[in-house]
Amino acid sequence: MLDAHAHLTDPRFASDVTAVVERARAMGVTRILTCGEDLESSVAAIELAARHPDVRVAVGVHPHRAASWSETTAARLVELARDDRVVAIGEAGMDLSGRSAPHAEQERALRAQLAMAELLGLPIVLHVRDAGREVRAIVDELALPGDAVRLRGMVHCYSEGPAEVGDWSARGFLLSFAGTVTYPGSERLREAARAVGAAGLLVESDAPYLAPQPHRGRRNEPAYVAETLAALAGIRGVSARTLAETVDANARRLFGPRWNLGAPARV
Ligand SMILES: [Zn+2]
Repeated sequence: MLDAHAHLTDPRFASDVTAVVERARAMGVTRILTCGEDLESSVAAIELAARHPDVRVAVGVHPHRAASWSETTAARLVELARDDRVVAIGEAGMDLSGRSAPHAEQERALRAQLAMAELLGLPIVLHVRDAGREVRAIVDELALPGDAVRLRGMVHCYSEGPAEVGDWSARGFLLSFAGTVTYPGSERLREAARAVGAAGLLVESDAPYLAPQPHRGRRNEPAYVAETLAALAGIRGVSARTLAETVDANARRLFGPRWNLGAPARV
């Protein structure tokens, strides 16, 4: 099993991250993608992955931190992406829920990171809140049909409805479901989870946020992704083992050879 999106550098994991990664492994979660939110946490994520062979890294700037974007940030991220443990650019995206950075700053950081991902041949990890249509329009602008290099990526903690599933799949983006899919009020999200083609599905913890139902309201951790995966399997009417194998194949395809390197040497 894998966890396609977590924040292991969050201060809430500072005192026990080794135990957290070990508990995940004991549950069969042997790959965790930890995502940077700015330059500092991206550097910290690579340092953490150097100590934990199950951990892979996305380096990038979260929409909440879009004001920190600069040419220097961009240059440093490109350097960081040379590390064998870095399998994606992100967490990037757009959040128009009203709780994030000014729109123009978010758009600048997103466009730059989409271009960076395409240039480096890495997938992008997208955070999309109340901004699906706008982000898809930007993606379309940057990934013109017939382009030799195609933008690839995943939408983390998918939160749109079943109708938008096809809009992302048509653009080659995988949709990742978090603990929110287990909440009693999430019927529309479960409908969306049924609508995704098997090849377009991922599962994540988004730890320390969004713990699945039995742990809701407490610190989330990657081990609990097993519960979200079991719930998703039930929603889709397949066995948990089958779904785990499907998701594993999807992650290998999306993240490429670095995803499964044993204990990669640092470049
Ligand atoms: Zn996140």
